[in-house]
Amino acid sequence: MSRNALETHLDGLAQKGRAVTLWLRDDDAVLPTPALDRLLSLTEAHAVPLTLAVIPEETGAPLAERLASAPLASVAVHGWSHRSYSAPPAKKQELGLDRPLETVTGELRAGLQKLRQLYPTQLLPMLVPPWNRIAPEIVEQLPALGFTALSVFGREKPAPLAVLNTHVDIMDWHGTHGGKPAEALFGEVLDYLASEKSVPAIGILTHHLVHDAGAWDFLEQLFALTARHPACCWASASDILAV
Ligand SMILES: [Zn+2]
Repeated sequence: MSRNALETHLDGLAQKGRAVTLWLRDDDAVLPTPALDRLLSLTEAHAVPLTLAVIPEETGAPLAERLASAPLASVAVHGWSHRSYSAPPAKKQELGLDRPLETVTGELRAGLQKLRQLYPTQLLPMLVPPWNRIAPEIVEQLPALGFTALSVFGREKPAPLAVLNTHVDIMDWHGTHGGKPAEALFGEVLDYLASEKSVPAIGILTHHLVHDAGAWDFLEQLFALTARHPACCWASASDILAV
């Protein structure tokens, strides 16, 4: 139902000569893996650009060598270590005020520098905070650290740098720990398209390392519906931010 409703909505947009922009962010890459290969071949088959949020601390040449042959992939900085420093029951957070500000900013500076060296042409100076959480005091520091963009989850809010968020998370983190049902996800995409408070680009959030069959199947279905649809434009984060 939702899939059909989304298709109908897109067909209507196409008839009016309108189009929506979508972008794809996938988190937690450190190493080349079969799951990463699967994501890269799936996105390449549909010509969908991909922003891969890479965890700097443990990553190195093997991932960079794999991504060198992935022309549609760009790299963003996923914190430094993806360790949580918040005290339970607070939600997990690497980029909070649990540590001195200069400790956190030092790690972020190191992460940007390390990924810039590994990916001289593919790095986008975008920070993707682990768990999509970051203290406002740290956001204020990002331009001085060399970041030009921030990406978290939900509707974009004003910040001292460009913000390009994700809006539809395909994983069910609190329930099955697998992919959410495809019908629910198509409904979420449609809600963003149809809502009055439109976003600059609908961001789809994936985590290739933990996808189950349902998550992969939804991505296949989403790309099959949208990648060649005249009312959809899958864009890279850098192309959207350059506008
Ligand atoms: Zn993450």
